[in-house]
Amino acid sequence: MEVALNISNLDKVYPNGQIALQDVSLAVNHGDFFALLGPNGAGKSTTIGIITSLIKKTAGKVHIYGLDIDTHFTKAKKYIGLVPQEFSFNQFEPVIEILINQAGYYGVAPKQARLYAEQYLKKLGLWEKRHQEARNLSGGMKRRLMIARAMLHKPQLLILDEPTAGVDIEIRRMIWNFLSELNQQGTTIILTTHYLEEAEKLCRNIAIIDNGKIITNTTMRGLLNSSDSESFTLYLAEPITADNMPTIDSVTLKQIDPYTLEVITNSKTDLARVFTELSRHNIRLLSLRNTSSRLEELFLKLVAEHDTTLLAGLEAKR
Ligand code: ADP
Repeated sequence: MEVALNISNLDKVYPNGQIALQDVSLAVNHGDFFALLGPNGAGKSTTIGIITSLIKKTAGKVHIYGLDIDTHFTKAKKYIGLVPQEFSFNQFEPVIEILINQAGYYGVAPKQARLYAEQYLKKLGLWEKRHQEARNLSGGMKRRLMIARAMLHKPQLLILDEPTAGVDIEIRRMIWNFLSELNQQGTTIILTTHYLEEAEKLCRNIAIIDNGKIITNTTMRGLLNSSDSESFTLYLAEPITADNMPTIDSVTLKQIDPYTLEVITNSKTDLARVFTELSRHNIRLLSLRNTSSRLEELFLKLVAEHDTTLLAGLEAKR
């Protein structure tokens, strides 16, 4: 399997002494859809900055498709498309020009660049806006423009730092579909996001970074399966009262209103036991909704555990 990105033993200390990364190692295979998650200040943007040579690393190695960025950056750069958090285009330039100029930096011929620009602007619902100055676009449109721009030299590896920050749900879905399609067609994607639902939906592999250290690096499926706890909302045909409220071992039942029940289960068989108990009490089920965000729960748990360990280490040193 070809490795798109390989980071080994990366350290970053900012000039003011702030330690941002400590011994970070990661590998992302070609074709992967990879989530880099972590709380604010964990070191995600620093990592992305180093990969794209916008930030100077203190120690460690980065290879892009086998190319060492210290010695082959010009070549390695062509493999990467970057969507940074901050809007970084000239606000007074028309949309189409922003794209064509970007392609020019990467040596894409203007005729080819126009074709690519049309392709991505249409896919991202911005074609009608192509002659508008960027400053006239809405926030959601600017985000999509940033994504289109990053794709103009057809990079193999697309890195997005919070691509859907501040974007409404409809546009977020459009961006998700766009990224899924790109990935299916072979583009490797690395994503940071605050929306864990987004990572859960899109990504196959995941690393969680906290306080400059990788605390988890695994498959999304493996991580999600490591927790059996799930929550559901059950909508009932008959009212539930204190008298007919079932009690079930290792299941938490909470009444929201007489016809709505919240259920937290710890194993896959628990839900079946809830159904059996309800029917024994002659309560019929109208519908049910899975309301757990397992990734969110796991994320909070892992970060809290790591922070506790860190604190304990600091206390011990004092
Ligand atoms: P994230 O992207 O996960 O929110 P960052 O990579 O931006 O985290 O930040 C990691 C740490 O480095 C934080 O403690 C942050 O305050 C610090 N940091 C980021 N940029 C600088 C800088 N230019 N100078 C000093 N410290 C910085």
